[in-house]
Formats: sequence, structure tokens, C-alpha cells
Amino acid sequence: MSQSLNISDLESKLEQLSAGEGLALIAEMFPGKVVFSTSLGQEDQVITQLIASQNLPVQIFSLDTGRLFPETLELLGRTESRYKTRIKVYYPETASVEKLVSDIGINGFYDSVENRKSCCFVRKVEPLKRALAGNQVWITGLRAEQSANRGGMKRVEWDEANQILKYNPLLDWTFDQMIDYIKEHKIPYNPMHDQGFVSIGCAPCTRAIFPGEDARAGRWWWEDSKKECGLHAK
Ligand code: SF4
Repeated sequence: MSQSLNISDLESKLEQLSAGEGLALIAEMFPGKVVFSTSLGQEDQVITQLIASQNLPVQIFSLDTGRLFPETLELLGRTESRYKTRIKVYYPETASVEKLVSDIGINGFYDSVENRKSCCFVRKVEPLKRALAGNQVWITGLRAEQSANRGGMKRVEWDEANQILKYNPLLDWTFDQMIDYIKEHKIPYNPMHDQGFVSIGCAPCTRAIFPGEDARAGRWWWEDSKKECGLHAK
């Protein structure tokens, strides 16, 4: 398929570039069709800074599931002020949330993997599909070392579920490299990271992790399943 050939050519090109240069190239190649999903995590804050500091024409958006930590929403506002930009916020469909809560209960996601996936679908996956619709490239803050599940990912890949090219500019960044960059550029970040929270999602489904634990061990810690919510399913 010619598409896969193009993707591997693009991958080779991007490998030669820094994350900031790669973002600029992608924004130039797909004018008006590049979006970046931020969950306000540290990786995403780095990418927001790289986009904003170069004034790239990339739409930054976030998914407000209705169950986020107040600190996350506070950081969203702080980030908008800092970079003088608007982060577009997508919300779940009201009728779908009402049906979900009526079916499984307000915290029914603790009861089964199936319930949890239903909740993630209504609050994250469906709004994400709306956010990505009509675009050609989806930028994400995935890093390969975040967890074993993410090790096989590529810098640029075709996302079959969402029918969009996915670009992961920080794929090979180490945790220390990211922290150094945040310090150097005084990038705003969630104060919960200083309290042992690494990967911060919805409040009822996130806990701090212990030293040496996998970065995503604090997400859906009561489950043995793959620690993904369906946003990055392949
Ligand atoms: Fe629901 Fe938890 Fe998924 Fe958030 S992370 S959408 S609260 S199951």
C-alpha cells in the first residue's frame, strides 16, 4: 500500500529532526489539518510549549470527561494564559453520560472491566472521535518508555480506529530529558506530579505510584487488564 511507503518515508525524515522541527514540518505538510490532544500531562505540556513557541497552526484540544481532578482544569487555564492560546475542550454527550450512569451507577466503572470500558468510551473515546473528525494528523505525547504496552509504537503510524495519521514527537524522549526540558523552559505542570502522581487521568481512576512502579500502574490499579482506555487502541 503506497500509504505505508509514505509513512515510512516520513518516519525516516522525522527521525533526523528534533521534536520541535518535526512538529513544524508536519504543520507545514498538512495545513489546517493537524490537531494535538492534550491531557495536560508533562509530555503534553512540552508539546504545547513546542507548538506555542513556534506559533504553529495546530489546534490544541483536551477532553473534559467530567471526572478530572480540579488541578488538571486549573492547569488548563494556566496553560492558556501562559501561552496566550485557546485549548478547545470537548465534553461527552449529555444523553450518553446520563444513560451510562443510570445503567452502571455513578462509580460503576469499579465493578467490571466492561463497565470501565463503557465509561471510557462515553467520556473519552466518543468525544475524541468528534475532535479528530475531518483532520489528517493527530499529535500525541506518547513516549515509548511510559509502559511495556507502548514499547512497540512508532514515531508516526496509521491509526486504523480513527482513520488518521498519528505522530508521537516525544516517542524516544526519556523521563529525565522531559523533566529537564520542563525546568529549562519553566513550563507549567500539574503540582500532583510532585506528590507521586505520574500519569494523571480521571480522579476516581488515578492513584499515586510507589518508587519503581510502572508509570501507568496508578491508572485503573484494581484491574489486571492492559492499562489503556481505548484512546490509543490499535
Ligand atoms: Fe470513566 Fe475512569 Fe475511564 Fe474516566 S478513566 S472515563 S472515570 S472509567
